[in-house]
Amino acid sequence: MANLQSSDLDSVLKTKMPALGVDLGGTKISAAVVCDQQLATEPRLEPTPHGADKIVEAVLCLLSEFRKEHLIAGVGIATAGIVNVDTGEVVGSTGNLPGWEGTPIRTIIERRTMLPVHVENDANASAYGEFRAGGLRDKRCLVVITLGTGIGVGIVVDGRLYRGAHWAAGECGHIRISLDNKRLCTCGLFDCWEAYGAGRGLVATAEELVCGLTEDQSELAGKGKSLTTQAVTAAAARGDIMARRAMAIWHEHLCAGMVTLAHTLDPDCFVLTGGMEQFVDYALLSELMTDRTLPRIAEKLEIRRSVLGKDGGMIGAAQLVLDQITAGV
Ligand SMILES: [Zn+2]
Repeated sequence: MANLQSSDLDSVLKTKMPALGVDLGGTKISAAVVCDQQLATEPRLEPTPHGADKIVEAVLCLLSEFRKEHLIAGVGIATAGIVNVDTGEVVGSTGNLPGWEGTPIRTIIERRTMLPVHVENDANASAYGEFRAGGLRDKRCLVVITLGTGIGVGIVVDGRLYRGAHWAAGECGHIRISLDNKRLCTCGLFDCWEAYGAGRGLVATAEELVCGLTEDQSELAGKGKSLTTQAVTAAAARGDIMARRAMAIWHEHLCAGMVTLAHTLDPDCFVLTGGMEQFVDYALLSELMTDRTLPRIAEKLEIRRSVLGKDGGMIGAAQLVLDQITAGV
């Protein structure tokens, strides 16, 4: 009887314990209470302040607001940049968060709140969220690709995030997909996957296609630096030939990185998420992947749409801290 009660309590704790999920990006901080792999409150959004101290204060402020109305068991933070999960410190690649690198986020927030804190790279947190919430727990290898202004990748192998020897596994946006030395990436290298397959890659492709054309030939001509992903995708939807061509080439570029990942990892499933995901033609992408991947890998390879969307980072980060807490129960 005692055992039964103990296991009942254990299962209640494992499914009903809430944590705060925080997604820390270059322009905004989103936070919400997460319980049982879903949002338990509406997210609150704050503009990301400048400087590490102010960012930490903003997170603490959001936490104290939520704690007025909710019992919070822990804090999960998804952040841009490479994260040393053992120390809870951002150790690299935070171009859009100046001064954030080297901040001992976990230590500071744990000391100030007396709560357990987990800090995770945002693409990894999204991948874990999709793994836990998307009915994918039977998959041996899951690859979640966040398509936005850049490309982030999270890899879940046998139920655990694969973080690599230097915490930088999944920095696949910087896979070299061309030898032309044509497009400079934000990382300082040339021809990275995200310089072609992310939003700014689509825009660069469209710019190249309409160079020298008149507005009679394409509505994208003559736009210069004001060309945006929205302009390209909207023009493609209206039937503009050059915009449609740019979208087709964009799918080839997406496929180029995914084929590399497919042959390296042999995943069960790719999940696509991020702001650019809505423009993916899944039938076309699947067709390209089948053409360019070894049949043994391609035959059973699924390509799915995210179930969590923009909430994936918050939910995944919170679930990571909850899973740590319950593992210790
Ligand atoms: Zn790069």
